[in-house]
Amino acid sequence: MRSRSDVVIIGGGVVGASIAYHLANEGMSVTIIERDSVASHASGFSGGYLNPTSETGKLVPLHHQSFRMHRELLENVQEESGVDAQVLRMPHIELALTESGVQFQRTELERISPFPDFKTQWLEPDEIRKLEPRITDDVCGGVLVEDVIVLDSYNLTLALVKAAENRGAETLLREATGIIYENDRAVGVRMGQDRIDCDKVIVALGPWSGAASLWIGLDIPIVPQKGELLRLEGLDPKLEFHLRAIHAGTTCSVYQKGDGLVWLGATKEDGKGFDTVNSNQALRSLSEVAIRMLPELESRKLVLQTACLRPVTPDGDPILGNVPGKENLFIATGTAGQGVLLAPAIGKAMADLVSTGETDIDIAQFGFERFREKSTGLTGTS
Ligand SMILES: Cc1cc2nc3c(=O)[nH]c(=O)nc-3n(C[C@H](O)[C@H](O)[C@H](O)COP(=O)(O)OP(=O)(O)OC[C@H]3O[C@@H](n4cnc5c(N)ncnc54)[C@H](O)[C@@H]3O)c2cc1C
Repeated sequence: MRSRSDVVIIGGGVVGASIAYHLANEGMSVTIIERDSVASHASGFSGGYLNPTSETGKLVPLHHQSFRMHRELLENVQEESGVDAQVLRMPHIELALTESGVQFQRTELERISPFPDFKTQWLEPDEIRKLEPRITDDVCGGVLVEDVIVLDSYNLTLALVKAAENRGAETLLREATGIIYENDRAVGVRMGQDRIDCDKVIVALGPWSGAASLWIGLDIPIVPQKGELLRLEGLDPKLEFHLRAIHAGTTCSVYQKGDGLVWLGATKEDGKGFDTVNSNQALRSLSEVAIRMLPELESRKLVLQTACLRPVTPDGDPILGNVPGKENLFIATGTAGQGVLLAPAIGKAMADLVSTGETDIDIAQFGFERFREKSTGLTGTS
């Protein structure tokens, strides 16, 4: 273990990994501190679905920018690390299963079609069945969005860390227990009795970010949101589309990933704290929508059910940038259900901020300041 690094990143999920990769590419010495193992939580168990057209709100431009950055990053990072992120490009179809769904999806088409990077079109039921005859004949229409990305987010996170390590980054499997300050300037990170000194510290703790409130003296308003996914035996021939629909109040995606399995996901449950126990409710609700879309799935066996946690802020947007009132301390968290999609933009933006004090990537509106009036008035540990 080094006694000092230019930058210490606390948290070895996809956010910390992408920042480490970008910093290492800029020639900085980086240490990642991870309590469990790299990608052992949401970053390793996410759906790995990248589609910037599916969200609305302030983050839309950043989603699109990050999606474009993924194209280049994925090529480089897989080559540099030797890790296959199982990247697949496939068309997405948002299925309308009811007549009211048709109205909603036609409005969605109007919203999505101006995005320059994606070809879109309305599909009538017979066109949908021609593209994929296994889709239910009880479908009312759908929106086709060409060329979304599906990948393995566990492998992507490992690839980012491995590529960073190839450029000198170090990963410590330790629990961070505090930040060390000189006056209000971060100068190191504590791990129990041990410490590592550094010039800059980045907190990238995903849903555990709130635990760092005591370390920084401000309330970090992050709560965990539970999400569950199912993996079923693969279909033969392989399903070549990412499908999604809403049925009985549940939204579900169905797609066959590079591992050959059919993934169904994901649920969203607030107010469950750090509960990651698989539930029968998720099994039932996801299966029901998926079978409604693709009846053949009824015969597929369940291979794996997983539950993990999204980091969510009160306004749904991430917290990115400097920590107010502290020097050389940064935070990157609150990516909710889009952290894998956002990883390249966040990684580059945070690396720019840390190394030069500014970034061309527009993250200004996602600063911590917007929550500052809710400060606890806690004092930072040292
Ligand atoms: C079911 C589900 C499906 C999803 N699907 C998608 C998707 O299809 N596309 C997409 O873009 N996003 C998706 N997401 C969202 C995405 O997974 C998250 O936004 C992203 O993984 C968050 O990354 P992170 O690095 O911030 O957090 P995490 O992956 O949670 O990493 C935080 C790390 O911090 C470590 N840690 C905690 N405390 C300490 C400590 N004291 N010291 C050291 N280390 C510590 C933890 O062990 C953990 O490894 C999904 C999320 C869920 C739950």
